Amino acid sequence: MINFAVGPVQSEEEILNIGAEQVPYFRTPEFSQTMLENEYLMKQMVHASAECRTVFLTGSGTAAMEASVMNLFGENDRLLVINGGSFGARFAALCRIHDIPFTEIALEAGRTLRREELAPYAGQGYTGLLINICETSTGVLYDMDMVAAFCRENHIFLVADAISSFLADPLDMTALNAGIVITGSQKALACPPGVSVIVLSPEAVKRVYSHRSRCMYLDLRDALENGLRGQTPFTPAVGILLQIHARLVSIEAAGGAAAETARIAALAADFRSRIHGLPFEIFSDSLSGSVTPLHPLTASAYDIFSILKEQYGIWVCPNGGALKDTVFRVGHMGALTPADNEVLVSAFCDLQRRNLI
Ligand SMILES: *Cc1c(COP(=O)(O)O)cnc(C)c1O
Repeated sequence: MINFAVGPVQSEEEILNIGAEQVPYFRTPEFSQTMLENEYLMKQMVHASAECRTVFLTGSGTAAMEASVMNLFGENDRLLVINGGSFGARFAALCRIHDIPFTEIALEAGRTLRREELAPYAGQGYTGLLINICETSTGVLYDMDMVAAFCRENHIFLVADAISSFLADPLDMTALNAGIVITGSQKALACPPGVSVIVLSPEAVKRVYSHRSRCMYLDLRDALENGLRGQTPFTPAVGILLQIHARLVSIEAAGGAAAETARIAALAADFRSRIHGLPFEIFSDSLSGSVTPLHPLTASAYDIFSILKEQYGIWVCPNGGALKDTVFRVGHMGALTPADNEVLVSAFCDLQRRNLI
């Protein structure tokens, strides 16, 4: 089996082996040290300033999205939500659930956000902007320099969901002046799902302390305070946190986030160069290193996903909803190589010979 899904993705052997071990007790100096190193390494990898903090929540990426929305904003805020697909829609749904006033900028699927679309919201008193750096559902990568400049000019707190973009696209939290950066264990961190990560700027920490949390499990103040001693309020996904530690250490040793981003970019470029001549169109007008969204011209996208899974032992990522039959995605995160790309492209060629695409 080769897994080209966009999460969970394939893990390195070293990470898989940690998953096979017994899970240790965690209220120990050793585990605290591991967690403090996790916090330090995460901050390094997103170019966060020394005063930033990182919390690790046990829950998938959505837990970090929800914790960010509910611990930082309230009914006196007015948020802008960039909605280019199912992850943007999730931010809008979270604002609705938590009664936070917001305006949604809805984009056509596969289209990036343009400066002219943001401009009308300047000087309107918005206090925060929620965006998925890569809208993974359609594979669109937003122009974060443009978005960050807009936020800076208008004194808007920027929440950047980098869940799929972290390590797959260049990311500099300080340069973006981002208030919050979010990621998760099962995308380019290439660990099992179950842990999400929030890097908080000093302003974000201040916001957390000025809000009363209405949820025990996702209370970021509790998480921040426990994090000072390398601990979490409740039993975390200890095994995954150990895997994240090994992975962060290994990325650091291999040249840091920039080297991993370059490796993923090269893998994505290799795949994209191999598919010329196949009956596919690239669906997005602004690509991330994490994923290539493809629109097949001659067959149902969902059928291609099913046939590859059933007959070739290859998993690509199907789309849901309105895009189910028109788009499937090929991920480039995790333990994949150009040889794996070659296997996938050979399978596409075989489908073509069989008149299935
Ligand atoms: C994967 C992902 C999420 C989180 O989804 P979970 O299923 O909760 O892990 C959120 N945002 C983006 C952009 C993602 O790619």
